[in-house]
Amino acid sequence: MKELLLCKYGELILKGSNRRYFEDTLCKTLRFRAKHYGSFAINRSQSTITIEQKDDNCDLDGLFDAVSKVFGISAVSRCVVCDKTMESIEQTVRDYLPPYLAGKKTFKVECKRSDKTFPLGSIELAAEVGGVILSMMPKLKVDVHNPEVLVQVEIRQYGAYIHAGQFKGAGGIPIGTSGKALLLLSGGIDSPVAGYMIAKRGVQLEAVHFESFPYTSELAREKVIRLARQISGYTGSFNLHVVSLTHIQEELVKSCTEDYFTLLLRRYMMAIADKIAHATDCGGIVTGESLGQVASQTMQAIGVTDPMSSLPVFRPCIGLDKEEIIGFARKIGTFDISIEPYEDCCTVFTPRHPMTKPKLEKVLEEEKKLDFDALVEEALATDKVERIRTEFN
Ligand code: ATP
Ligand code: MG
Repeated sequence: MKELLLCKYGELILKGSNRRYFEDTLCKTLRFRAKHYGSFAINRSQSTITIEQKDDNCDLDGLFDAVSKVFGISAVSRCVVCDKTMESIEQTVRDYLPPYLAGKKTFKVECKRSDKTFPLGSIELAAEVGGVILSMMPKLKVDVHNPEVLVQVEIRQYGAYIHAGQFKGAGGIPIGTSGKALLLLSGGIDSPVAGYMIAKRGVQLEAVHFESFPYTSELAREKVIRLARQISGYTGSFNLHVVSLTHIQEELVKSCTEDYFTLLLRRYMMAIADKIAHATDCGGIVTGESLGQVASQTMQAIGVTDPMSSLPVFRPCIGLDKEEIIGFARKIGTFDISIEPYEDCCTVFTPRHPMTKPKLEKVLEEEKKLDFDALVEEALATDKVERIRTEFN
């Protein structure tokens, strides 16, 4: 009895004439991810993708977890196929379903027949299968409105499909169908969530992390690499560019007024990000900013950093409270990594009184004290930027 996975598309089915492209992209992602778990046949028909094990060496549980993180899929079912006889259906229900029903209180059976020659009608078949389940597990109750487990039996042309419930998929649209963007990834809580959210809307990621070694440590960098790896389960593998801001920060401290340090630094970050984005074919920049969260995220402060990018800047967390962002961080498994206590380049040389309502003219006056373009160019010198591939795991 070989189990298989059935994936239902979500919003994809709304995409009209582009639908084919969305489906192809999704299947390509699934084929790529499936390779890590064994040899599978992946086919699609009627808004469903079927994933079948080709041999006995497949890790279906591992693939099930991976598939649950693939954007573009709204639900994943686990099922087995048996002969289209009542005998075979009953035996399969007895052999296959108990682990999925164990510990549950309620269930419902739903049947569909695309093969209308099957002797029982859908309602009669559901009653039969329900009876078999109750005879095996008499403590279970039928709940037709809100069952804990929905058992589905589909009578198709080539056999009967017995489903052990439907599990929620990652939703969203397939990675790559909305282009590519550069994520500013810090070691904090917000930016990994921002990366996850923009990827959910079909955006492929490239990322940049700014460090300030030796003011920030090797461990701080290693933490960001772990965060990148963690989100790559959802976003797919991506390149992380690590850029040093040490010299820029030292120059800022030497020459500029303290209150402006953070704003000036953020303008450098945005300018460098813009150049990396262009060099890597990104159509946008993504940050984890949330309006009003800290001094550098007031409308005025964002207004001072935003013009440094020639590309649209996406801020998926802009309207979320910290608690809400933390909820997402827990869900995607980044929270525990994010709260490890390492310095970020934004937290070294922090002004005692950061500007919350900066005036652009004053910022530009401060900025003129340094050779902006030369410092950006130096930070981006090829031998200085490290590029790390965050492998999907
Ligand atoms: P986070 O939790 O994502 O670090 P934050 O609340 O600490 O956010 P800031 O430090 O003001 O806020 O940073 C705002 C955004 O700027 C971050 O979400 C991230 O996108 C970007 N950013 C900040 N520091 C860095 C860094 N060292 N490298 C790359 N991007 C950064
Ligand atoms: Mg931060």
